[in-house]
Amino acid sequence: MKEFDYDLFVIGAGSGGVRASRIAAGHGARVAICEESRVGGTCVIRGCVPKKLLVFASQFSEAFEDCGGYGWSVGKPEFSWPDLIAAKDREIDRLNQIYIRLLDNAGVDLHMGRGRLVDEHTVEVDGKRFSAARILIAVGGRPWVPDIPGREIGITSDEAFHLEALPRRVLIAGAGYIAVEFAGIFNGLGSQVTLAYRRDLILRGFDDDVRRAVEAGLSGRGIDIRYQVEPARLEQVDGEVEVTLSDGSKQRVDTVMFATGREPYTWELGLENAGVRLGPGNRIEVDEYSRTSVDHIFAVGDVTDRIALTPVALMEGHAFADTEFGDMDRPVDHANTPAAVFSQPPVGTVGLSEAEAREQGFNVRIFRSQFTPMRYTLSGRTEKALMKLVVDAKSERVLGCHVVGPDAPEMLQGFAVAVRAGLTKADFDRTIGIHPTSAEELVTLRQPVDDQPGS
Ligand code: NDP
Repeated sequence: MKEFDYDLFVIGAGSGGVRASRIAAGHGARVAICEESRVGGTCVIRGCVPKKLLVFASQFSEAFEDCGGYGWSVGKPEFSWPDLIAAKDREIDRLNQIYIRLLDNAGVDLHMGRGRLVDEHTVEVDGKRFSAARILIAVGGRPWVPDIPGREIGITSDEAFHLEALPRRVLIAGAGYIAVEFAGIFNGLGSQVTLAYRRDLILRGFDDDVRRAVEAGLSGRGIDIRYQVEPARLEQVDGEVEVTLSDGSKQRVDTVMFATGREPYTWELGLENAGVRLGPGNRIEVDEYSRTSVDHIFAVGDVTDRIALTPVALMEGHAFADTEFGDMDRPVDHANTPAAVFSQPPVGTVGLSEAEAREQGFNVRIFRSQFTPMRYTLSGRTEKALMKLVVDAKSERVLGCHVVGPDAPEMLQGFAVAVRAGLTKADFDRTIGIHPTSAEELVTLRQPVDDQPGS
């Protein structure tokens, strides 16, 4: 007789949980997973995937504006928000079904309902109890909203995907990934957008040249960026939302969206019943094998607040399953994690920013190019793309690669391989460009910035 119902019980069927359960089952483990909302998690249901569909939708307005330069004339384009949301919902339903099927095909038992730890080997899902030799917590994160009067009038990205109508005027609080991506979405679809940020430059943590290039792109598209302010109070007045900002100014809008960060979803999970320890910001503390303070309980993904990106959660879940059930030794490895911001213009980045490299004591050489992408020539758009390499002067290794402009996220996947492999500037220079592309700039950057006259 088996001691436990399962070898592994996973709480949360998002990116990390689904990957871990499928890989563990593939290694022969008896696996169950539970989910309180919809299988697929943040990324598929209310994050990366629907966001990118909305980004695609919002980019058409720019294409309509630019097409005249290429000989096209189109009538006045019309946009239907309800049609877009319905189409997006159909696609998310399809993906949700695919995820359910993937679990089924892998032989993973799916229990719909909220999971809670009863003790260190027992999970309860809607009154039913299951015992497991190992437990994986992969419950993700939730939007965090500042505690100001009227906060309940505002929305977060969760609700933005289901608004009944496109807001005519929207104020977005914050200037991280979600804020700048949704600023572009709403602006492209025709809303008047204000971005309110408490500091003085968007996208803190990214390379400063990247931040300035995106800022120029947002402003150039008509987004009103307001620095050194944040919402202090929201009130419903005459069917509108009146926002009082921290400098005392007031603004009337239709919607206020908080994009002020996300927090680990660790409450009401029964962690205390099992002795799982929390770290700062209520994240679950784990080691390099994603092991919590309890030997056989693990956690992956946003709930551990390491790097809150889907591919990182996939890697963490996969490494956990390989180590625990596949007889491998796979500590997690977050080095040189590439990232993209699907703002307009978009960002692709990997490795160290210039400031980080200097802080870490590298003597850096900076290679940078700003140019008008070819596709803008006939359309008359003046926006510049940015390409930047941060190179260690001593070893010649490329420490960071940063791109802002059309297709930047697509470009960066390949360059991430190069940076991750520790290639040098000479390796980049030896590579023949693909012409005519923007990406070829990254292999033809000859002069470091310091050597350039006037820089
Ligand atoms: P971010 O951490 O990227 O940004 C949060 C923003 O809110 C920052 O501008 C921050 O300001 C501001 N903020 C934080 N606290 C407060 C406060 N008390 N008052 C006012 N402003 C505040 O979080 P997001 O919510 O945008 O995204 C969460 C995570 O999800 C991201 O970090 C990323 O890992 C992931 N994500 C990834 C995407 C992608 O890969 N393309 C897309 C969307 C999300 P400050 O700079 O001052 O701290």
